[in-house]
Amino acid sequence: MRSFPPARHIPDNTGHESVAETAKEWLRDCKYRHTSCKRTNEERLEDWHASRLIEVGTSDRPQRLALRHGSDDTLEGPYAALSYCGGENPQFLRLTTTNIEELRQEIPWQSLPTSFQDGIITCRRLGIPYIWIDSLCILQAGDGSESDWQFHVPQEMANIYSNCELNIAIAISENPDQEAFRSRNPDYLQDCYTWTDSHELPLDPPPSSEPKPSFCM
Ligand SMILES: [Zn+2]
Repeated sequence: MRSFPPARHIPDNTGHESVAETAKEWLRDCKYRHTSCKRTNEERLEDWHASRLIEVGTSDRPQRLALRHGSDDTLEGPYAALSYCGGENPQFLRLTTTNIEELRQEIPWQSLPTSFQDGIITCRRLGIPYIWIDSLCILQAGDGSESDWQFHVPQEMANIYSNCELNIAIAISENPDQEAFRSRNPDYLQDCYTWTDSHELPLDPPPSSEPKPSFCM
């Protein structure tokens, strides 16, 4: 009687650190092992940075959140671009000409909607030190916001998405105030095994070929 292989350890929430570890491995495989992805990756300009980025640091070295100039020579390492649903009535923190200087000093963690916080947690765990979020990296209101949009829409956006290390898409949440992580039943994610005898050669000959008993007189 064979026994089933032991069940894999799968956390019951996608916000668990080991989920990010798995994602990190997938990202590494994608970059260095997948033939077609490798080609796309080689076309990516690794040193290119968007004109504004949010510095997040990494899990080992988390940084104070702040808006940074993409042209700043001290910027080191890749960035992720965040995609999310804005929702029907967006009320979350946005970049304006009024708060831009404050956000250059610090973006308070508590001022961010949950989805953005989860995106930042993911970046840190994956070792990606910067994140690009449209509402915080393109002026949304105030003087100069119109020309900032004009600058971003035709060319900058294409560069931002084609040169990012990763695009984190929070497709599950209707608006940024919802969490990006979800609870789940790990049993549904366990491997399935099907065993059948048809591939096995019988070790003993079938009963019909059993030698006939012989009689000695
Ligand atoms: Zn790939």
